[in-house]
Amino acid sequence: MPGFELFGNAERKEVNDVLENGVLMRYGFDGMRNGHWKAKELETELQSAFKSKHVQLVSSGTAAVSVALAVAGIGAGDEVIMPSFTFVASFEAIMMLGAIPVLVDIDDTLTLDPKAVEKAISPKTKAIMVVHMCGSMGDMEALQTICDAHNLVLIEDACQAIGGTYKGKPLGSVGDLGCFSFDFVKTITCGEGGAVITDNEQYYMNADHYSDHGHDHIGNDRGAEDHPFMGYNFRISELHAAVGLAQVRRLPDFLSIQQKNYTIIREALSEIAEITFRTVPEGGEENYGFLNFFLPDLEIARKASKNLKAAGVDGCFHYYDNNWHYIRKWDHLKNLKTLYPISEEVKSGLKYLQTKTFEQSDHFIGRNISCLIKLSWTEEEVKSRAEAMVKAVTSVLKS
Ligand SMILES: *Cc1c(COP(=O)(O)O)cnc(C)c1O
Repeated sequence: MPGFELFGNAERKEVNDVLENGVLMRYGFDGMRNGHWKAKELETELQSAFKSKHVQLVSSGTAAVSVALAVAGIGAGDEVIMPSFTFVASFEAIMMLGAIPVLVDIDDTLTLDPKAVEKAISPKTKAIMVVHMCGSMGDMEALQTICDAHNLVLIEDACQAIGGTYKGKPLGSVGDLGCFSFDFVKTITCGEGGAVITDNEQYYMNADHYSDHGHDHIGNDRGAEDHPFMGYNFRISELHAAVGLAQVRRLPDFLSIQQKNYTIIREALSEIAEITFRTVPEGGEENYGFLNFFLPDLEIARKASKNLKAAGVDGCFHYYDNNWHYIRKWDHLKNLKTLYPISEEVKSGLKYLQTKTFEQSDHFIGRNISCLIKLSWTEEEVKSRAEAMVKAVTSVLKS
């Protein structure tokens, strides 16, 4: 997945443009910048890459999720449905707005189970946040139907699925708002950075203002700008945008390398009868940034994960035992460990986490191994990796 593997001259050239004229800020300073508007250019490139009317760059993927929630009007006491398997950023962004994350089970897509979503809807529910984990996606049609029936906003966290598509549409452009991360380990990187995409003009205008202190960006005199509402600083810098600009132009190449490497490994693993692969919803195409497969049970998956590490196969994750991505290890969330007090409403809204179990999620995450697909491998390396993986998994199944 990581674009940083192929970081080179194109990125250096874009960054040098910025360093040479010295305007590191994305807004204003028109006279000084010699026509360099890296953030604006990157937004235009992303509009066509993601087939979206509007793109607002921000400082991170977490910022993107925060801005998407804010422009959707999510705030104090609102409930946002999110999956049990994601990154901690999902609930962090919801909590920062004083809203309540409602975690529900995933299914064999490794993303939100639409049936679990439907059960979790309450009068306080305002939005559904689907997280397209490890390169593939949720069942967008089923989720859209639920959103339409209950008048909910559909937010896509596509941070890990840049370039994946659903029924011909880029992931992130299917729901009301899409969120991307360009942090150091994502498919394309800015170093740090993110984007919110939407076809909704009002959401976009609000994202533009909100991510820059509520400045309305009307007129050339920065200090004279009006503030239709209070905002915050989620700005990206020109330096970061410059890196992303070089990277986004290489995205089609990155995606085809990922697909090639993924296919070689998948074909090798397909010969193991006990292995099944993650379900991709009908009409969906992964971005091939990860290869995800299931083993017969938790203990086999644990042993296989250990074996893979011992065999020197890096980048294979057994998320069941991982602190970053799965509810099982999020004691800080379950025990409401915050640095500062949170409202009684949020506290009581999160009480369910003391007792709720996620057996269905455990059933899938417990048996899942997720392998990062790298861009820099030679064909030789992919083939010997595939062989080593087959050997490591087979030896567990035989024992
Ligand atoms: C990386 C990631 C984020 C956060 O992005 P940052 O740019 O690191 O803040 C959010 N959601 C998912 C699913 C991610 O993988």
